[in-house]
Amino acid sequence: MEFRLSEELVSFRDVTRNFAKEKIAPFARKWDAEKWLPDDVVREMGRIGILGVAFPEEYGGSGQGLLGMTVVVEEIARWCGGTALFIAAHSGLCSTHIRIAGSEAQKKKWLPKLAAGEVIGSWCLSEPDCGTDAEALTTRAEKTSAGWVLNGRKFWITNGKRADVFVVTARTKPERGARTISAFLVEKGTPGLIVGEPEDKMGMRASDTVPVNFENCEIPAENLCGQLHEGYVDALRVLDRGRVTIGSLSVGLARGCLEEAVRYAGERKSFGVPLHAHQAIQFKLADMETQVEAARILVRQAALTHDAGKPDKKLCSIAKLFASEMASRVGWEAIQIFGGAGYTKDVCVERLVRDNKLCEIGEGSSEVQRMLIARAEFQRVSA
Ligand SMILES: Cc1cc2nc3c(=O)[nH]c(=O)nc-3n(C[C@H](O)[C@H](O)[C@H](O)COP(=O)(O)OP(=O)(O)OC[C@H]3O[C@@H](n4cnc5c(N)ncnc54)[C@H](O)[C@@H]3O)c2cc1C
Repeated sequence: MEFRLSEELVSFRDVTRNFAKEKIAPFARKWDAEKWLPDDVVREMGRIGILGVAFPEEYGGSGQGLLGMTVVVEEIARWCGGTALFIAAHSGLCSTHIRIAGSEAQKKKWLPKLAAGEVIGSWCLSEPDCGTDAEALTTRAEKTSAGWVLNGRKFWITNGKRADVFVVTARTKPERGARTISAFLVEKGTPGLIVGEPEDKMGMRASDTVPVNFENCEIPAENLCGQLHEGYVDALRVLDRGRVTIGSLSVGLARGCLEEAVRYAGERKSFGVPLHAHQAIQFKLADMETQVEAARILVRQAALTHDAGKPDKKLCSIAKLFASEMASRVGWEAIQIFGGAGYTKDVCVERLVRDNKLCEIGEGSSEVQRMLIARAEFQRVSA
């Protein structure tokens, strides 16, 4: 089913689909084992427009908005969650923060290069002692005569190992509160910026995840990104969009599991007939397809609310929650259809399932999404 995709976006999707089949699918298992996405793949994604799909054309993008982002991320995630997570952090978090909050000079300096994949971006909100409760972050930014000096520790930072620019949230007022935090741009090579070694993760292994520390890290005054004390509020706006992107990542992973299971059910025989001739297998496949379609519609509808300038935060949470948990259910069913083969690394389904678990945790866990959905619904009904 096509969901309100323009002709331009359909052709963009097809280019991405072909790229993913040729340049990602054959190597995803290797990247998972090696815990690294090769630089030439990143550059190629920039060259053919994948990284800048959502950016306005004036900043080197294709102007396809968040809907465009969901379409390309689904295509990439179909084969490799780690590559899709690279895009989600680079384009969906770092670049989006600069685009919605940055000064005109910052946008002109960074967005065209980020869109082209000439520089890599990461987004640093989480810390060792606070992820879900990010408002409690303790990284500090102190004003000096020359600019700002940052001190603190960030954790779980996607793309940190290869990033050229880091969007960093830091406390600019001592007390707790949404309007006590600001965002800053820190460039690779700045003294006091210390990037640690990648985590050995369960999934999303092609994407690097590192700790990033700041020790008396001095940056110029013009690297404040957005208004003073508004960095956390801007980060939440970034996350509203990011959650839709993560939803599309799960749709891609689930589609991968489904397509692999359908193919196998046609090839593998039991009791003299292909697996798909058994009604129990047909019903599994039908339920899987139904769930993937439902999640895709939710994700695209949530994206369209952003692109129309009226973001529906509850729908963003619903889309992420449903899509991420759906992909886990669909993934385990796919493994069941593969039988013993599904329990090995010889089929990609086990990797896609491992990749998806992150989507139930990052950018607001399932528990957080349920809290946000319930809160919004209570407010709506009691208004
Ligand atoms: C692979 C990976 C990549 C990541 N990339 C980035 C990145 O690029 N940038 C970045 O800033 N962060 C990143 N993160 C961090 C991610 O966003 C956090 O891991 C996530 O927000 C959860 O925070 P936490 O791990 O500290 O868990 P905690 O906050 O310690 O939560 C632990 C558990 O308790 C639950 N919980 C917490 N509070 C409540 C509550 N009030 N009610 C009910 N349940 C609750 C949570 O849902 C979770 O299940 C990444 C994480 C991973 C694993």
